[in-house]
Amino acid sequence: MNNKKEIRVRFAPSPTGELHIGGLRTALTCFLFARKNNGTFILRSEDTDRTRFVKGAAKRQIKDMQWAGLKIDEGVIIDKNGNLVEVGNFGPYIQSKRLHIYKKYVNQLLEEKKAYRCFCTAERLEQMREQQQAQKLPPKYDRKCAHLSQEEVQKKINAGKDYVVRFKIPKGKTTFDDLVYGHIEVENSTLDDQIIMKSDGFPTYHLAVVVDDYLMKITHIFRGAEWIASTPKHVLLYEAFGWRENMPAFCHMANILDKNKKKLSKRDGSVSVADFRKEGYPKEAVINFIALLGWNPKTQQEIFTMKELVEQFDIAKMNKAGGVFDRDRLKWMSKEHIKKMSVAKIYKESLPFLQQKDYYKNAPKENKTKDYIIKIITIEQDRLENFAMVGQDNQFFFKNSIEVDKELLRWKDNTDKQTKTALEKAHTVLHNVSEENWTRENLEKILMDAAGDKRGDFLWPLRAALTGEKRSPSPFDCAWVIGKEKTILYISNAIATFE
Ligand code: GLU
Repeated sequence: MNNKKEIRVRFAPSPTGELHIGGLRTALTCFLFARKNNGTFILRSEDTDRTRFVKGAAKRQIKDMQWAGLKIDEGVIIDKNGNLVEVGNFGPYIQSKRLHIYKKYVNQLLEEKKAYRCFCTAERLEQMREQQQAQKLPPKYDRKCAHLSQEEVQKKINAGKDYVVRFKIPKGKTTFDDLVYGHIEVENSTLDDQIIMKSDGFPTYHLAVVVDDYLMKITHIFRGAEWIASTPKHVLLYEAFGWRENMPAFCHMANILDKNKKKLSKRDGSVSVADFRKEGYPKEAVINFIALLGWNPKTQQEIFTMKELVEQFDIAKMNKAGGVFDRDRLKWMSKEHIKKMSVAKIYKESLPFLQQKDYYKNAPKENKTKDYIIKIITIEQDRLENFAMVGQDNQFFFKNSIEVDKELLRWKDNTDKQTKTALEKAHTVLHNVSEENWTRENLEKILMDAAGDKRGDFLWPLRAALTGEKRSPSPFDCAWVIGKEKTILYISNAIATFE
C-alpha cells in the first residue's frame, strides 16, 4: 500500500519583467525536487499586482524556463503553436482569473470576524506612519476600522467609500519549521494587520498564495529568502481557515549574491535568463551553474547534467548562506559543457549567432557550408565559452584571400631566403598529400616530421601564410579547415612575396 502524499510543487512568478537568474534557480529547485520524487511541477502566474503587470512577460518567463529544459507538468504552459494555455485539474492557474475564489474566502474571514474592512484614506495612513516613525515605532496599522460597528460599515459601503480588507492578526505566537532555516518563531504582536484584499477587488499576494497553494494541493513551497518574513502571516491565514494540517512545507532559499556579497542586481550586468541566452551560454551550463548556487553537492564533482542534478538533489544539501554569482565560474562551466557536446549540436546552437556576424555574412558561399563550419568548430571546440564565439577569434577562415607580407612570414631573425625555402618545402610536402589523406591527424604528423627540430623556422611561415595572423590555431589545423586547394594557393602567394 502506498499512502504517501503525491508531491506537488509550484513555481509562481509574477509577470513583472524578465525571468531573473534567481527566479530560474527557484524554478529549477522546484523542478529537481519534483522529478526526484516523481512529483508534479506546476506553474502558476501571480498577476494580482496590476501596477507592476507587464504584458507578455508571463509568456517570456515560461519560454525561458522551457529553453532551460524545465518542463512544466501542470498549470500555465506554452503549447506547440506557441500559445499560452492552461493544463490540469486545479485551474485556473492565472490568479487574475480566480478573483471569485478569493472573494469567497475573504468573505468567509469577514463573516467569522477574522478580517475587517478598512476605510482609512491614504492620507490618514501616511500620517500614522509618520507619527510612528517619529516615535521610532515599527509601522503598523492602528486598527481604527477594526472597531467599526456593523451599521457604520454598512453606511460607509452604501456611501460608496473605498475599502480594503485586513486580516486581524490574533494574539499569541506563530511558529513553523523551514526546511532550510529550521524552527522559526515570531510574536504576533510584531505583525501588522495585513491587507488581504485591495480596493480594486484584487487579493494581495498573501491571501492569494495561501488560498491557491491550499486548493492546488501544494506540498512544498520553494521560494526566495525574501519571503521568509511573510511566512508567519501565511501560517496565520492557514490557521484562520482551519488548514494548518494541510499546510505545505516551507523551503526558503538564500539570495544570490554579487562579488561584494550584496544581493545580485541589474547593476552587476546580465541577470536575466534572456541575457544569458542572448550571450550564447548553453542551457546545460546555466542550469549547472545556478543549481550549485546555494546547493552544495558535498563531493568534488562540479559538472553535472540535468539527470545527475535530479539524482543528487537533496534539500539537506541546501545552504543558508547566499551563493556568490561568479561569472568566471559560469564561463568555465560553459566551456566544460561545450567540450562534451557533439560538433553537430554546437553547429546547430551556434548557427543563429554566426548568422548575425559580419564576418559570416560577408563570407563567400564555400566558407559557409555546414561541413566547413563544423571543421572550424572542431578545432575551436575546447576553447569555446559560448555559442556566440564560433569563428570570432579566427575570422580569416571566412575570407577568400589572405594578405601577407615578408615581416609577418619571417620567423625571428631568419633571412628572406630561409623563409622562402621553408615555404617551398611546405608547398612540396603538402602538394604530395592526397585529398583523402588530408586529415587533421595526418597533416599534423606529416608537417611535424618535415619540421624536424626546426619547428619555428618551418611552421611559423606556413601558419602565417595560411592565416595572415600573428596568432591562430596550428598550421595543421588551419590547413585541414581550408582544404588542400586553398592551402597550396596561399603558400604560393606567400612565396610570391619574395620574388
Ligand atoms: N509571486 C511571488 C514572486 O514572484 C511568488 C512567491 C512565492 O513563491 O510564494 O516572488
